[in-house]
Amino acid sequence: MKLIRLKPGKDRSLLRRHPWVFDGAIAKGGGDAGETVRVESAEGQFLAWGAFSPASSIRVRAWSFDEAQRIDADFLRATLARAIALRTRLGIESDGMRLVHGESDGVPGLIVDRYGDTLVAQFTACGVERHKALIADALIELTGCARLYERSDTSSRKLEGLPEVTGWLRGSGPTALVLREHSWQLGLDIAQGHKTGFYLDQRDSRLVCSQYALRLQFKQMLNCYSYTGGFTVAALAGGAGHVTSIDSSAPALQQAAANVALNGFDAARASFMDADVNASLRQFVAEGRQFDAIVLDPPKLAPTVAHAERAARAYKDINRLAFKLLTPGGVLFTFSCSGGIGVELFHKIVASAGLDAGVDGAILQRLGGASDHPMTVNFPEGEYLKGLVVMKKQ
Ligand code: SAH
Repeated sequence: MKLIRLKPGKDRSLLRRHPWVFDGAIAKGGGDAGETVRVESAEGQFLAWGAFSPASSIRVRAWSFDEAQRIDADFLRATLARAIALRTRLGIESDGMRLVHGESDGVPGLIVDRYGDTLVAQFTACGVERHKALIADALIELTGCARLYERSDTSSRKLEGLPEVTGWLRGSGPTALVLREHSWQLGLDIAQGHKTGFYLDQRDSRLVCSQYALRLQFKQMLNCYSYTGGFTVAALAGGAGHVTSIDSSAPALQQAAANVALNGFDAARASFMDADVNASLRQFVAEGRQFDAIVLDPPKLAPTVAHAERAARAYKDINRLAFKLLTPGGVLFTFSCSGGIGVELFHKIVASAGLDAGVDGAILQRLGGASDHPMTVNFPEGEYLKGLVVMKKQ
C-alpha cells in the first residue's frame, strides 16, 4: 500500500474533514493515477484514505477518514447507494435530478445526473476514472436506468492529466430527451448541451420565478443568459405576457424556442435574441425599453477567489443595467454561480449596482442551488450558486 506523508502542520484541513490535499502539503510519497493511498501526518498519524492524482495540484482526494474502511467495490457501491437514496427521500419535483454531487456526496470528482431512465456522468478526477467500470455498473444496478452516457469533457480533466471522453458507457439510445420539471416539459440534448445537458441546479429558482410571474402578472420579461429557456418556460407557465430570451448560443436558443412550443405556449409570447447580454442591455437602455421582470443568470465569471475582483465589476455592470431597465415595482432575479464570489460579496455587488443605477430596491428573497446539489459543512467549495430576488421601489 502506498503512503503519503504530509509536511508538519499540514494535517489541519484533513482533520477538519476537508477532502483535498494540495501538492505543497506533501513531504513524500506518491502513487499511480487514481490509486488508493494512505495519508499520514508528519508524525505518522493516520488521516485519510484517498485517491492519488499525480498531475493535479489537488494531489489527493479523500475517500474516507476512517482507518478501518477498505476502499473497495463494496465501499464505492454503498457510497453511491447512499447518495441515490437521499434524492429519493428529497421528493424532487422533476424526473431530472442530480444523483451524485462529487465531494459533497463523498465521491470526489464524480457528477451523475438522471434524466428519466438515462444517466449522464462526468468523471473529473483520477480516483473515479480508475474505478469507472465499477461505478458505471453500480449506477445502472442501483437506479434501474437503461443507459449511461459519459460527458467527461470538462476543462478540469486537463488539470488531472486526463483526456476528454464522451459517449455511451452502458446501453445506448437517443441523446435528445424531454424532461418533466414541475408542471412543464423541457427538451435537452445530453451529448450537445452544456454540462450534462441541462442546469438542474436552478430548478427551485425556476419555480420561484414562475410563482412571482403568477402573483405579480409580469407583462414584459427579459431572460438573460437563457440557455434552453428554463426560466422562459417557467415564467410563461406562470402567466407572464411576453418573454425575451437572450443567449450567445444559437443551438441553445433553438432548443428554447422548441421548449416554448412543446409546452403549448403561443409563439407570439416569446422572442429570442442570439446576442451578447451586456451589449443588448446597453442597447435596451439607449432605446428606453422597460421590463417588469429580468433574470440574470450569467456563466461562472469567477471560478476562484483570484478572479473575484474582475468578475465583481462584470456582475455589477450587468446588474446596474438591469436595474435601469426595470419598471417601478419590477423584479430582478439575479444569480452568481461563481465559487469565488461568496453570498455576502454578491449581496454587496448587487446593492452597489442599484446605488449606481440610482435605484432603491428591496430584497424579497434569497435563492440557492436545489437540494439535490447539497453543500456539506466540511467542503465550502461546494457552495457556488446564489441568487437574490430584488424589487425596484415603486
Ligand atoms: N438560466 C439557464 C442557465 C444559464 S447558463 C437555465 O436555467 O438553464 C449561462 C448561459 O449564458 C449559457 O447558455 C451561455 O451560452 C450563455 N452566455 C455566456 N456568455 C454570454 C454572453 N456574453 N451573452 C449572452 N449569453 C452568454
